[in-house]
Amino acid sequence: MTRGKSHDRPATPVRMCVICRGRFAKSDLTRHVPAAGVGAGLLPDPRAAMPGRGHYLCANPECAEKFLKYSGRPRRRRGGQGE
Ligand SMILES: [Zn+2]
Repeated sequence: MTRGKSHDRPATPVRMCVICRGRFAKSDLTRHVPAAGVGAGLLPDPRAAMPGRGHYLCANPECAEKFLKYSGRPRRRRGGQGE
């Protein structure tokens, strides 16, 4: 049987969970963006309408728990504005 490469998958946007680094469909992840102000943590952005670098969190409860620490820990700001 020669099916060749007929992997016709729908082009689902995939993002990586910042905690477990697993890859998930974007629709399964919650986007968070840095809040204004240093050390203000990350804000959920369900509508993906806010500017800033997106941090995606999967639906795993363990990740949600770790994400609290992750987002609560202020990081040293690096110069420049990356995507
Ligand atoms: Zn995760």
